[in-house]
Amino acid sequence: MSKNELALPPLRLFIDGEWRGSSDGGTFEAVNPATGTSLGNISAATADDVHAAVVSASRQFNGGEWSRLTGADRGKLLWRLADLVQKDVANLARLEAMDVGRPYGEAFHVEIPLVADTFRYYAGWADKITGRTFSLPPFNGADRFSYTLRKPLGVVGAITPWNAPTMITSWKLAPALAVGNTVVLKPAEAASLTALRLGELIAEAGFPPGTVNIVPGIGSVAGEALINSPGVGKVSFTGSTAVGKHIGSVAAASLKKVTLELGGKSPQIIWPDADLDIVVPAAAISIFANQGQTCAAGSRILVHRTIIDEFSTRLKAHAEQLVVGDPFAEDTQMGSLINQKQLDSVLGYIAAGIAEGAELITGGARLKRPGYFVEPTVFIGTNSYRIAQEEIFGPVGVVIPFDNDDEALRIANESQYGLTAVLWTNDSKRINRFSNDLQAGTVWVNAWGPPHPAVPWSGTKASGIGEDLGLEGLHANTVVRTINLVSSA
Ligand code: NAP
Ligand code: MG
Repeated sequence: MSKNELALPPLRLFIDGEWRGSSDGGTFEAVNPATGTSLGNISAATADDVHAAVVSASRQFNGGEWSRLTGADRGKLLWRLADLVQKDVANLARLEAMDVGRPYGEAFHVEIPLVADTFRYYAGWADKITGRTFSLPPFNGADRFSYTLRKPLGVVGAITPWNAPTMITSWKLAPALAVGNTVVLKPAEAASLTALRLGELIAEAGFPPGTVNIVPGIGSVAGEALINSPGVGKVSFTGSTAVGKHIGSVAAASLKKVTLELGGKSPQIIWPDADLDIVVPAAAISIFANQGQTCAAGSRILVHRTIIDEFSTRLKAHAEQLVVGDPFAEDTQMGSLINQKQLDSVLGYIAAGIAEGAELITGGARLKRPGYFVEPTVFIGTNSYRIAQEEIFGPVGVVIPFDNDDEALRIANESQYGLTAVLWTNDSKRINRFSNDLQAGTVWVNAWGPPHPAVPWSGTKASGIGEDLGLEGLHANTVVRTINLVSSA
């Protein structure tokens, strides 16, 4: 099969191990944003369908076959799933590139391998989930000994975004399953295809039916039903800050646990001692990878005033030779934005930047071709502009000058968000100071790149609550139980 032929997964709901239509027959369209062509109609889960999925997941959790597996058994299933993902990398990458408009090469070389790595990393934890022990002094003549267990939470409701849909799905499923939870997954409407393909691989790996249920559909219907379901013990969400705040408030009313991985407006800070031959292309990847539709995009580019002319000239030249176009062409570096709404929003921000007085040094226009392609765009401006304060989620960077470290730190932290930051310097004193004082979940030093499953990922301020990945992401899917043993003398 050539790399742009498509073998579609079932475009239905995956509930209790079966592929079903929705209870009211409703569907929504999967679209290839790079061409505007339809990829098919996917069943749209109703509240009744979500309820059926939660019932199925609860049954597996409460005494079903899944609940009786050992940690090692769960680990074997996750490992098998990782192998199946690895075998299917070309197909998953193809589905992702078609559904999302991102370059096939990015999905094939980076994202899908990370999915396999994530399932494998958590497979390793599944039989190593331990608590703590406490030797306590006697009380009233009785010996005391306490220990803790980490227990699964029950049914985890996972809700994912469209920008890196397969990777984020693995971040939600792998730790939840490793510790013994069951899952109901609501994928993003604009990017459900790889989640449905994962459903097929989950069945093939041999997970008991109902351990993972997949309910594609509309956020305000299927997502809303999931976050309101009394059968759900935790909501694990990645998406926008606006929807995250809503989910947080709904979850608070029923005291559900939540993990909220939300938006960002991350600073990159570039000092004169940095090697611009390295920094310029790397900074550009951070802004323009996935067409800028990356939560960690380093879209506020703080540059020391003494090098701002040289840096801006070089970034402009670099941006202008980036290849924007067909996601399946070998040399493509940027594909299409996800849809018309995102295109309108990104072009609206570009217009707002110009209206606010920012200097547009390159880009700014939509490409004259079908699909939603926007030129890599760079402004020079100040941190108070909307284009520097709001998450654009498109290929738009703002270069902001600074004169000294105090000012750089102040500007970097003057943001509602706190997801990531990148430091470009070899000065270890500076690296230590900024690593400590930046308000961010992740600080990269002289690099920007994909997360590793072993390393926790989180945001502060409006970028979220709780951690994904690493041991922290595993623990976030558990509850601690304390056992007190008391023996009379
Ligand atoms: P979004 O609009 O918030 O949607 C995310 C998910 O929530 C989708 O599945 C959506 O369904 C669903 N949803 C919408 N309304 C809902 C409701 N009332 N109840 C329950 N679920 C609901 O975000 P997006 O546009 O897909 O993704 C982009 C955002 O994700 C950006 O802000 C980006 O920074 C953030 N993100 C953060 C991270 C991180 O790790 N911090 C990683 C990736 C992306 P529909 O698809 O049907 O709308
Ligand atoms: Mg799509």
